[in-house]
Amino acid sequence: MTTTQVVNPATEQVVTTLELVGADETDAAIERAQRAAVGWREVAPGDRARLLRRFAEAVDANLEQLAQLEVANAGHTIGNARWEAGNVRDVLHFAAGIPERLLGSQIPVAGGVDITFHEPLGVVGVIVPWNFPMPIAAWGFGPALAAGNTVVLKPAELTPLTAVRLGELALEAGLPDGVFQVLPGKGAVVGQRFVTHPAVRKVVFTGSTEVGKEIMAGCARQVKRVTLELGGKSANIVFADADLERAAATAPYGVFDNAGQDCCARSRILVQRSVFDRFLELLEPAVRGVRVGDPADEATEMGPLISASHRARVASFIEPSTKVAFTGSQPDGPGFWYPPTVVLPEAPSDRLLTEEVFGPVVAVVAFEDEADAIRIANDTEYGLSGSIWTNDVGRALRVSRGVEAGNLSVNSHSSVRYWTPFGGFKQSGLGRELGPDAALAFTETKNVFIAN
Ligand code: NAD
Repeated sequence: MTTTQVVNPATEQVVTTLELVGADETDAAIERAQRAAVGWREVAPGDRARLLRRFAEAVDANLEQLAQLEVANAGHTIGNARWEAGNVRDVLHFAAGIPERLLGSQIPVAGGVDITFHEPLGVVGVIVPWNFPMPIAAWGFGPALAAGNTVVLKPAELTPLTAVRLGELALEAGLPDGVFQVLPGKGAVVGQRFVTHPAVRKVVFTGSTEVGKEIMAGCARQVKRVTLELGGKSANIVFADADLERAAATAPYGVFDNAGQDCCARSRILVQRSVFDRFLELLEPAVRGVRVGDPADEATEMGPLISASHRARVASFIEPSTKVAFTGSQPDGPGFWYPPTVVLPEAPSDRLLTEEVFGPVVAVVAFEDEADAIRIANDTEYGLSGSIWTNDVGRALRVSRGVEAGNLSVNSHSSVRYWTPFGGFKQSGLGRELGPDAALAFTETKNVFIAN
């Protein structure tokens, strides 16, 4: 049996040692899920709803424990970690509304009746990254279970603890054996088996675009359904007519939240040239004011990066020639710290403008007018998220329609609500999670004609 050491990124101390699931156990779990799927789809809608509600209540009763686990395992600030555990509860409550509302259609036809059903797929494999271990897991397993599927879930190697606890809570809440199983293990072993095992009928993958492409290619061999939530290089566009004070005060939180390890991070700030210098003047105190430190401290706004190797990768983006405008603070001592960093790249081809850093580094560039802002915002293979700051409603709408991204916010940086759709354009992903149609990503539409 292979084991892995779970390390606290704020202290570099070992939190615990965990056994990793191997290939044979993965197969056994998938087969258990396949057997459980037969009964789970037959559970009456009201009863499935009740079980999901109980699961939500179990998460709520253990919210503080889950949050503390995430602080220790992922270095998330305690405020964020509580929000994340609360998000799992809310996604489950939302999902509990699905079984009784999974409506088909009755379509007018001659000579009989035509009706559609939303049939569950069977076993769904959910593969989760390390940056938001709890919410991203729930966005997959909540609606998948609600639609009558069973779920095998693989957390990231670095952050398995909250997922393992959620698996226990599902059982305590009364979900039948085999309906929801958490399999901590390696991507190349457990995750890969979700792709190749024929009983897994859909893979929901959140992670890097590079691995996502491999997953998609692997799934193609069995015409397996996929939802992909991948990388981002989102733009925060600030027009001269915006409330500049508010735009500058909030910009750090639009990119440095979770230490920039956020697929929705607004890691490019595009500022209209006429207010560029003024915006930087306002941004500097805001960045220096970000409270970086012990994630367990209630006042902390930014914690450490996830690992030493990830910190080295983030640091590699800052070269001797990089023009660094200013940086924020970072604590001394152990922990994988990196300060909030603002850079001013000049060439559009600069890696800092084209690649996802996935750390607390933001690039600020100038634009001339609306068309130029949209052109720069779209000059990327990604298209996940973004913000537009302006007091002109018409401009807000025109630019929102022009930017190729799945999740935009005007005069705010909010991206995710469990009842609104979430997902990416272009190489940021395929399909949507959450929102009113969440369950339809986990069903096949079946059309039945009944002759008179
Ligand atoms: P990653 O691609 O390295 O790993 C993601 C998951 O895939 C992990 O569980 C890993 O074990 C597994 N995996 C790795 N190789 C695999 C393989 N060959 N087969 C099957 N599974 C495999 O990504 P990461 O470093 O954990 O996460 C960071 C990335 O995730 C960033 O690019 C970020 O933008 C992206 N992300 C996207 C969203 C979104 O919703 N669009 C949300 C969060 C993170």
